[in-house]
Amino acid sequence: MERSYVIKPELGKAYPKISHGKGIYLYDQDGKEYIDGCGGAVTASIGHGVQEIADAMVEQARQVSFAYRSHFSSDAVEQLGAKLAEWAPGSLNWTFFVSSGSEATETAQKIAIQYWQEKGYERKNRIISRWMSYHGITMGALSMSGHVMRRKRFTSLLADYPAISAPYVYRKPDELSIEEYAHKRADELEVAIRRIGKENIAAFIAEPVIGASGGALVAPAGYFERIREICDRNEILFIADEVMTGMGRTGKPFGINHWNVVPDLMALGKGMSAGYTPMAAAMATDEIIETITKGSGLIMAGHTYSANPQSAATSLAVVRYMEENNLVEKAAVHGEYLLAQLKQIVADYEMVGDARGLGMLTGLEFVKNKETKESFAASVGVGTRVLQRAFAKGLIIYPAMSGADGLVSDSIIVAPPLTITRDEIDRLLGILRAAIEEVQAELKAEGKL
Ligand code: PMP
Repeated sequence: MERSYVIKPELGKAYPKISHGKGIYLYDQDGKEYIDGCGGAVTASIGHGVQEIADAMVEQARQVSFAYRSHFSSDAVEQLGAKLAEWAPGSLNWTFFVSSGSEATETAQKIAIQYWQEKGYERKNRIISRWMSYHGITMGALSMSGHVMRRKRFTSLLADYPAISAPYVYRKPDELSIEEYAHKRADELEVAIRRIGKENIAAFIAEPVIGASGGALVAPAGYFERIREICDRNEILFIADEVMTGMGRTGKPFGINHWNVVPDLMALGKGMSAGYTPMAAAMATDEIIETITKGSGLIMAGHTYSANPQSAATSLAVVRYMEENNLVEKAAVHGEYLLAQLKQIVADYEMVGDARGLGMLTGLEFVKNKETKESFAASVGVGTRVLQRAFAKGLIIYPAMSGADGLVSDSIIVAPPLTITRDEIDRLLGILRAAIEEVQAELKAEGKL
């Protein structure tokens, strides 16, 4: 084996080398074909190898790739900013560009804190989040995240932010209606605010659909409306983490568009550039930016690569491609079909307890007992087994497990490029079924199911 000095997710494991990609397919150097059933990390939303994007990238590289944001703006970044303002709800018109989702959530966090400082509230600086959540891997973003497995080694270094429970409709107590459950969960925010004191809290952050730590858990109707009302009443900003759910992934421009709510800040990433370049952003309302402009006039955030012309031109080409090909609408239509088929998988397999999702962000949850909804022990690693079997058969899906028994689900995410056709969805599901079938037989043989 060729010697490698690259630190990989699993040290010591050999990974296939990528050769090229086209549409929903990826090919390794041995010529094996994979269906990219999760756009890598719910990222490649327009598919691989799109010529228009490659052309736009070359064009910008010929002009200029890098000019520092402290010195220059660019056509690309201005046009992308205008496009995002068009896409975003309410007065979320302002964009701060960064390069990763973690930077985006941390930038939103910093803007929220700065907003209150500019208004004279120096102590309003804590962020409330939810236990089942993932907002990024850097320390500030991890402080807001509930992803136990990723936090574990660093817990003592993380900011001690309070967390409330997220709604988990599959595990809703039977005696509550959906509406009562939505309110009950949202009202936990009110309790947390009372305990800590609104004078100490800058913002509440949530993913409209929980991704990496929950497996496409969709909040019930009425939940975010109630959250918005509680935030307003207590003068706390609402940050929607749209890193995974934004840019059409859920069949609407942003995940939060499924509720009748406008956040104060949004974090974007992943689908913003669909994997063609590192690109992410924090968006803020007119009110927030006007307040900071009248105050210090300088947002204390930013990275070397923030708003570089090369990434902006690439991302702009991706957004235009999405518009020209009606990919948001397609995600809604094909997503409905995908979810219906996943529900059929729930009906067909003993170890699959739930299928859920919005648009092209869907998930399956594995359970030991369908009646009681008892989960498998984390050590059984059912989701991981399904991922491995699927990968061997040429299907890539995304894990959604945070590794703590009792706290989280053992789930996978199916989130293919929004360009996927119905035939391709059927092909994807055929491989997924075969993988589940094998794991189910294996668990039976081991006496674990
Ligand atoms: N927020 C959410 C909702 C995410 O899903 C992710 C990535 N999985 C992040 C933030 C962090 O993004 P990145 O990995 O680009 O830093």
